[in-house]
Amino acid sequence: MIDRSRLAVLLDRERGSFRARNPRSAAAYEAARGHLFGGVPMTWMNKTAAGFPLYLATAKGARVTDVDGHEYVDLCLGDTGAMAGHSPAATVAAVGRRFGELGGATVMMPTEDAGWVGEELGRRFGLPYWSFSLTATDANRWAIRLARAITGRPKILVNSYCYHGSVDEVLIVVGADGEQVSREGNVGAPVDPTVTSRVVEFNDLAALERELAYGDVAAVLMEPALTNIGIVLPEAGYLEGVRRLTEKYGTLLINDETHTFSAGPGGCTGAWGLSPDIVTIGKAIGGGIPSGGYGLSAEVAAQVEGMSGLDLVDMGGVGGTLAGNALSVAAMRATLEHVLTDDAFARMTELATHFTKGVQDVIDRYSLPWSVTQLGARAEYRFASPAPRTGGESNAANDADLDDYLHVYLANRGVLLTPFHNMALMCPDTTTNDVDLHHEVFAAAVAELAG
Ligand code: PMP
Repeated sequence: MIDRSRLAVLLDRERGSFRARNPRSAAAYEAARGHLFGGVPMTWMNKTAAGFPLYLATAKGARVTDVDGHEYVDLCLGDTGAMAGHSPAATVAAVGRRFGELGGATVMMPTEDAGWVGEELGRRFGLPYWSFSLTATDANRWAIRLARAITGRPKILVNSYCYHGSVDEVLIVVGADGEQVSREGNVGAPVDPTVTSRVVEFNDLAALERELAYGDVAAVLMEPALTNIGIVLPEAGYLEGVRRLTEKYGTLLINDETHTFSAGPGGCTGAWGLSPDIVTIGKAIGGGIPSGGYGLSAEVAAQVEGMSGLDLVDMGGVGGTLAGNALSVAAMRATLEHVLTDDAFARMTELATHFTKGVQDVIDRYSLPWSVTQLGARAEYRFASPAPRTGGESNAANDADLDDYLHVYLANRGVLLTPFHNMALMCPDTTTNDVDLHHEVFAAAVAELAG
């Protein structure tokens, strides 16, 4: 068991050395506080274990340096936005050529790259018709609109403690007594999400059937494995059950592959042979340039196209001025063609297996009540054993001080984990030595805690 007073002392010590090590980041943060809301360019950047964020200087491949001159092995990779590695050469070249030599980032004209990207995403995810966005959030919003248009139904069903972007419908959880409630902290909800949504626990097919039986659910929006509340893997038969029940009740199935893309070149959908009606994705596919998209089955595309009165070419609520722009599409093409290739995924997955094994060794050595779960190129440790099987269980295993201790301990010794998770992601440039450095520092952090 964790000695809480020892943890408090160690956390305090590590925060002190973080402050001492990073005077320039601290000064930049202080200077920005009068001009930036919350002192940061985007409020999530305040999610930091030590009181202020590190300021970026340079980033290449699996490495970043901060303004105080420290180098880090980056296992955060922009919370998946940089799963292709920072500034991968092929993407840099394609983006440079598009923006510089050829010219034109946002012209409201298609480029030939777009058809190539649609075909490649079709090969990987098995859905033939693609449209682009700049974020996964927007891909989800637009997919939800199409699902409501086709089915004429009002509600969206999600899994408890999912995350699909700042989409109003998804901020709903299963409450302590099994009731449906707005997620704590939900900022300015337009209506209570219980009006627009239904929610069930992941891996609970009985609850899913109960909620779908109301007949008012346009789409189930889900990750094939939860990744935003630790990794929660599907149990045997669960995803087949979801597909069967959604078909039975006339509900569309949307797989959000934004994070589960780590499972392979076609995400979980490709790796596990799933057949959703719609796939949404964002973050990594542009190699760092804002990109996203949604893919539709032939049936869904035909249904939408067959409906009269939908304004798909102007102000109907689907699409955006900068979506599918020439720069973003050039970045997606280069990243998919040359960086996040089938071979790269095989290497990244091998490294994540090495990561998982090393963490499990430490857990075993100290008989910790923790677990580590891998999803392709990603792995995550969680303070619960056995590994949680629902979002609710995983949420109950949160331990903010322990999270902060491990994050700041690792950062002080050159390793970055994703601030929102204990998640480690491999990119094509991550090396065995990088993973070994994590193991060494993680083992030392745990040894000090164990005393
Ligand atoms: N879907 C999933 C599964 C995500 O994890 C996230 C972000 N963490 C999003 C969608 C939203 O991505 P973005 O913030 O880039 O729109």
